Amino acid sequence: MSNATFPVSKALQKKPLSPNTNPVSREAAEEAVRVLIRWLGDDPSREGLIDTPARVTRTFGEWFSGYSESPADILSRTFKEVAGYDDIVIVRGIGFESFCEHHMAPIIGTAHVAYLPDRRVIGLSKLARLVDIYARRLQIQEKMTAEIVNSLQTFLKPKGAAVMIRADHHCMSTRGIRKHGTDTVTSSFTGVFRSDPLWQQRFLHLVGLC
Ligand SMILES: [Zn+2]
Repeated sequence: MSNATFPVSKALQKKPLSPNTNPVSREAAEEAVRVLIRWLGDDPSREGLIDTPARVTRTFGEWFSGYSESPADILSRTFKEVAGYDDIVIVRGIGFESFCEHHMAPIIGTAHVAYLPDRRVIGLSKLARLVDIYARRLQIQEKMTAEIVNSLQTFLKPKGAAVMIRADHHCMSTRGIRKHGTDTVTSSFTGVFRSDPLWQQRFLHLVGLC
């Protein structure tokens, strides 16, 4: 397994969306919701639904706020005064809500995010915010896992990074095959967590998997 440094991918360089750069207006998005309501067989002009398109677009703005945030901004503020601390930093059990990019069905899960500092650390809450940036986009769990670990590696440049995600996919439990109680586990490693089985073992131990 290679211990190569990660190139900054095109996806990581992409400029975040803002109201000024969004090519779709809020009015057009609300009209799309009205079309969907009509397609379902209901009447978007009845009293109970009249304000629904505005509410839905506002709610989608919150659920998908990850498109307007940049991991580079969040990971740019680092601290060097760590008194020689040189062990794993891990934040466990970061809850998140995401949506699968195939059905736009909820993905509800938790993430464990770790890195081995190379002289620099970041605020712990930034790891949770990093998870949210990628969760609040249309996703598949495999891609989300890789994006979190790659952006940590790219912008913080630690000796290694490790991410494990466990999630319940509503596109499996509430539609299609309708299997309740399943979860999906994915993991991704860079640096020493990828090249050295002992570091990987310590991460797995800290997340309670060995
Ligand atoms: Zn799906």
